[in-house]
Amino acid sequence: MFKYHEPVFRPPAEAASAIIQATLGCSWNKCAFCEMYSSKQFKTRSFEELKQEIKFLAKVLPSTKKVFLADGNAFVLSAAKLMPVLSEINKNFGRIQRISSYALPKDILAKSYDELVDLRANGLKLLYIGIESGDDEVLKLQNKGETFTSTREGILKAHEAGIDTSVMILTGLGGEKYTEQHAVNSAKLINTINPKLLSSLNLSFPYGVEHYKSKFQGEFIPLTIAGVLREMQMFMANLDLEGTIYRSDHVSNQLVLKGVLNRDKEVLLNQIEDALANTPEGLYPDAPMML
Ligand code: SF4
Repeated sequence: MFKYHEPVFRPPAEAASAIIQATLGCSWNKCAFCEMYSSKQFKTRSFEELKQEIKFLAKVLPSTKKVFLADGNAFVLSAAKLMPVLSEINKNFGRIQRISSYALPKDILAKSYDELVDLRANGLKLLYIGIESGDDEVLKLQNKGETFTSTREGILKAHEAGIDTSVMILTGLGGEKYTEQHAVNSAKLINTINPKLLSSLNLSFPYGVEHYKSKFQGEFIPLTIAGVLREMQMFMANLDLEGTIYRSDHVSNQLVLKGVLNRDKEVLLNQIEDALANTPEGLYPDAPMML
């Protein structure tokens, strides 16, 4: 009988998608801020199992247009393993328009340009990438396992093969000490890749700040709500993009922002400025919000 291996995570934009767990957990599973898959051992799943699940889901969700391959970074699978899964999805879901998954830049770099083009031709059109930061120091303290350069190269390689990306930056990731370099270098990285979609999420502490501090490999001073807004302001002010859809509307965000960059940059900056003017200093995200 079909059953998901909990917990299951998917991007907000995949709420209406059929979810197929091509892998379980995250192959990296070492980022200091991330507890998403700490209860799971990374595993790939057999093609036979996936085939049964795809058939079942296509039968119960016949009008599905989008399929999301979970878990953490299903794109770690080689092109040789992904291709039959994509073919099976295309064969069974009559109305399929897009297949997507989470990916790490190293998962993209491990594939050849021709493999990426083939995957795109078989429906893999979008990769979700948690960049988190464009600052090498913050990335290292987080144990992200990626750098400014690896992230840029991976994402540009996907774009070159026709695969779009939706990327995420984590506001507050380096705390007060690293706020400026995190904001400025994240914007610098985003400017070099010009993704289709960009989201700002806020660092949150599911197991408390002390737990996070024990994993962060440097001095961590959490940002206040005003500090979060100032970091978003710095990040936004340094962005220079063409047609990127920007969102900060995750449950973790203190301020909801939506627009297209650069077109709406001034409007978004004004919204941050207004929020800052109405936010007292010294309030932390867990405290009652004034926005
Ligand atoms: S790579 Fe992504 S899913 Fe894996 S530990 Fe890091 S943030 Fe979490």
